[in-house]
Amino acid sequence: MNIRIDELKKIERVSQPFKLASRDFRPKGTVVSFNGACMGSSVGGRELVVIAGPCAVESREQMREVSQAVMKAGVKALRGGAFKPRTSPYSFQGLGREGLEILAEMRAEFGLAVVTEVISPQDVDLVAEYADVLQIGARNMPNYALLHAVGKAQRPVLLKRGMMSTLKELLMAAEYILSHGNDRIILCERGIRTFEKYTRNTVDISAVPLLKRLSHLPVIVDPSHGTGKRELVGPVSRAAVAAGSDGLLIEVHPQPEEALSDGPQSLKPDRFAVMMRGLRPVAEAVGRTL
Ligand code: PEP
Ligand code: MN
Repeated sequence: MNIRIDELKKIERVSQPFKLASRDFRPKGTVVSFNGACMGSSVGGRELVVIAGPCAVESREQMREVSQAVMKAGVKALRGGAFKPRTSPYSFQGLGREGLEILAEMRAEFGLAVVTEVISPQDVDLVAEYADVLQIGARNMPNYALLHAVGKAQRPVLLKRGMMSTLKELLMAAEYILSHGNDRIILCERGIRTFEKYTRNTVDISAVPLLKRLSHLPVIVDPSHGTGKRELVGPVSRAAVAAGSDGLLIEVHPQPEEALSDGPQSLKPDRFAVMMRGLRPVAEAVGRTL
């Protein structure tokens, strides 16, 4: 860690346990920029970011269909897991390096930035070679070895809230990354576990304005994992934008009924396009663009 003396003085004045992540440390707010092949994108400015794509990279054809569709709907960042953290060891674990190669091809062909998950510290360099943004999933939010590793990587990090984590714990996880000098962090509310059974998780909408008050880091919402139900993705996306979210992470699959993971929460491309159109008036109402 290489912190300047004036910054150390600022840290001393911050009373929260998360120092570098706190709003007091940087009252103005942070805009995280990242690069796709042809265009730059950023999160935390006036323009909302939508990161869309399937849960997992399954094939080149699947990714080409999704990339074309999300790009047409106005998306600049493509998601898709090559390393999947599955609850069961018998579920599809992702295509690994081949998946990363397919993602890089999509960036070259469509000019979309690539957001993909890294699940172990030893894979960080490999994933960073292909990805524009490194995703830390909910299951790994408190994996401190992984947080140290992405802190040292020269890539922005999308840090998802653990399914049983408090906001303070999320901000402390961000602090690990920040302590290495990597301040390009996007926080993501993806739902937490509650007693409710109709949804996969419960989206904590209040986390959005609260995190924005507590921290200078941009915040996005993932209504796909947050609800687990495709019919709830549109309404919860609109609520997230209305609450001040800087963007959304949304699962889109050309044939959700055949998806190898998370089919029930994935939108088909045509429904996704309709949802994007419905978001624009909400964005405008809160002074944002899409
Ligand atoms: C994902 O983004 O596909 C994922 C596994 O999400 P989470 O870590 O939020 O469960
Ligand atoms: Mn998923």
